Amino acid sequence: MGALPTLLLVFSIFRISIAVDTIALNQVVRDGEILTSAGGSFELGFFSPDDSNRRYLGIWYKKVSTMTVVWVANREIPLNDSSGVLKVTDQGTLAILNGSNTNILWSSNSSRSARNPTAQLLDSGNLVMKDGNDDNPENFLWQSFDYPCNTLLPGMKLGRNTVTGLDRYLSAWKSVDDPSKGNFTYRLDPSGYPQLILRKGSAVTFRSGPWNGLRFSGFPELGSNPVYTYEFVFNEKEMYFRYELVNSSVVSRLVLNPDGSKQRVNWIDRTHGWILYSSAPMDSCDSYALCGVYGSCNINRSPKCECMEGFVPKFPNDWDMADWSNGCVRSTPLGCQNGEGFVKFSGVKLPDTRNSWFNRSMDLKECAAVCLSNCSCTAYTNLDIRDGGSGCLLWFGDLIDIREFNENGQELYVRMAASELGRSGNFKGKKREWVIVGSVSSLGIILLCLLLTLYLLKKKKLRKKGTMGYNLEGGQKEDVELPLFDFATVSKATNHFSIHNKLGEGGFGLVYKGTLQEEQEIAVKRLSKNSGQGLNEFKNEVIYISKLQHRNLVRLLGGCIHDEEKMLIYEYMPNKSLDSFIFDKTRSMELDWNKRFLIINGIARGLLYLHQDSRLRIIHRDLKADNVLLDEEMTPKISDFGIARSFGGNETEANTKRVVGTYGYMSPEYAIDGLYSTKSDVFSFGVLVLEIVSGKRNRGFSHPDHSLNLLGHAWTLYMEGRSMELIDSSVGDIHNLSQVLRLINVGLLCVQCGPDERPSMSSVVLMLSSDSTLPQPKEPGFFTGRGSTSSSGNQGPFSGNGITITMFDGR
Ligand code: AMP
Repeated sequence: MGALPTLLLVFSIFRISIAVDTIALNQVVRDGEILTSAGGSFELGFFSPDDSNRRYLGIWYKKVSTMTVVWVANREIPLNDSSGVLKVTDQGTLAILNGSNTNILWSSNSSRSARNPTAQLLDSGNLVMKDGNDDNPENFLWQSFDYPCNTLLPGMKLGRNTVTGLDRYLSAWKSVDDPSKGNFTYRLDPSGYPQLILRKGSAVTFRSGPWNGLRFSGFPELGSNPVYTYEFVFNEKEMYFRYELVNSSVVSRLVLNPDGSKQRVNWIDRTHGWILYSSAPMDSCDSYALCGVYGSCNINRSPKCECMEGFVPKFPNDWDMADWSNGCVRSTPLGCQNGEGFVKFSGVKLPDTRNSWFNRSMDLKECAAVCLSNCSCTAYTNLDIRDGGSGCLLWFGDLIDIREFNENGQELYVRMAASELGRSGNFKGKKREWVIVGSVSSLGIILLCLLLTLYLLKKKKLRKKGTMGYNLEGGQKEDVELPLFDFATVSKATNHFSIHNKLGEGGFGLVYKGTLQEEQEIAVKRLSKNSGQGLNEFKNEVIYISKLQHRNLVRLLGGCIHDEEKMLIYEYMPNKSLDSFIFDKTRSMELDWNKRFLIINGIARGLLYLHQDSRLRIIHRDLKADNVLLDEEMTPKISDFGIARSFGGNETEANTKRVVGTYGYMSPEYAIDGLYSTKSDVFSFGVLVLEIVSGKRNRGFSHPDHSLNLLGHAWTLYMEGRSMELIDSSVGDIHNLSQVLRLINVGLLCVQCGPDERPSMSSVVLMLSSDSTLPQPKEPGFFTGRGSTSSSGNQGPFSGNGITITMFDGR
């Protein structure tokens, strides 16, 4: 470790030290005068970071001979001459005035009024505003430690007060001689389980990983040392990192440099200067997501990136050329099937926790069981590694930014398909273990396989596997392997397509109930002859749904082709579609709050799977109550992929000339500009949530007092603090009112007018499963009813009928 280049060389100050550390009401510190803290550690005054006329008010070390500024007040608005004055005002604030015209250039805020406001520079380097001699930090009117610049001094909190919303984070200087905010920030991110995140603009460049009780998962070297102690506090009110010096005569600080490196440096003496103690990012494996999803980085390996065992490069050619950014995909996709389990990877930096969930009281076994029971859960581990481990941390969605450490790495249990559980080997040279949760013994598995083989053999008598070749939009050909049923079997099962077996009618024709020989109940969708559009939707449905498997998507059992006839065979959903419950006075009473909550959660997970976790990554485009089917246990299953579209790796939105969807569920950007993205599905989901909570359709909603639709009505009630009035009165007792109000809040966040404002489905799933504070929703898109106009609320051609429509061709 060598001496660092001296950061701030040419500071110019004109010094007239004043032997006080405090100024009282209406007293001033003029440019050239300096306040000194009582113990002589810090000074406050005006300075220039170079030999220009730009003057800033700042705090610097008194005992460090190389002028090192740790805090700047007016970092964005320098004075252009030496007329600046710092003053305590009668509002209890500190203000920098431009002496020549007494304009306030910068001012602190104040939490309350004070009779005798005083400013004091403490020996910690904290500039505080207090009332008289009240030295209780709880009562400070304001303190510079709450507004850090590029330096974290001992005792400063890096993190958030979740009650007041105060977010203390580091932001680098623009350059060594420009204290204005540069590109880099280092901030505690509260999403999922908190971690410190270094960003350049909005792009993540490094993260510390979550706190594991001893250290941040990404700082294996953090441990007891002679220089400083540290803590991470995370409770209902606060979450922050803080350190204190073991020996207060040592000068040590954490600084975020203009080049984005975060360093701990210790002052030695005039000859040695500041000496580097530790730095992050440490090496290229610390570059955020270097190896992409499910890729793992090991700095001692060449090449550094390798797919985790059970995964293969998504784009092998790019991967071989050391472009690892697209990461890896599973060798065997997950389908939320029985027999899935977990593989233990050891010695890792835990993946990005922004999509995680945690529970402090669960043990590892319970944690595994919860993860297994949730189809979107991809990994778990202990929250705290002390004393053999405790607590539970779960990940949802893809795992990203994993690296391997030689020492102090952690264990991560990653969900795998049943067939992947038996393999051996982990990261190269490391042992891998596999973990099956529950009581499935290997004998059980063998038995299960036997039974499955027998079942499949029996099925084979009825069906033969067929391949249908269809074109995806964009001309890409997809071969779809689908079990084919013979026509005679299907015809017999449906009583020769008897009208008495009719279940309903959808996008491409009639749907019949059928019963196969083994008593298995099925639903048969029969494509109407001569239906042009229907044929497209039929192909679409085959392509998408045959490739997807999730507990919350309807399952396609097979197809049937007979002359010109085409049919699809699904598992039968005895409780039909959701609309038949929620909008029906009597049946809606069967859906109590618990059931409604579970239904909303299930739909959210199904949609998250489509958007993020499925192989094709799909936008449904026609999510509505009619397209959510319910099985005998009221588990919701998203159906009807007639107009769904898949989108590529980095693609986030697409444009269509043919807007198809359903009145009342379409987002403004899709209905008006033909722009669809996962966020248009989020909008439809939001509408659905508000419909489930209120028991009323958005489309055709009317209210005696206004002409708003359901979205506008819900938003108005929310803004007036009357959300309770939205709740469906036909549902019995509400045992958990805050949960229902939370649903309304989530629904309103999803229907916000701007697509970027709406949360992703992974955030929605998290919002539904945690009790974190939710943001306040902005105005919804399309919130006025028919007959009224409003720029964002104009419904244009929207009026009510229940079926999926094509809005217009061409634009
Ligand atoms: P769809 O073409 O998917 O919109 O289906 C039209 C209607 O048929 C639905 O609203 C349901 O009432 C019924 N239906 C469709 N699929 C099933 C199924 N798998 N089980 C039971 N009913 C179904």
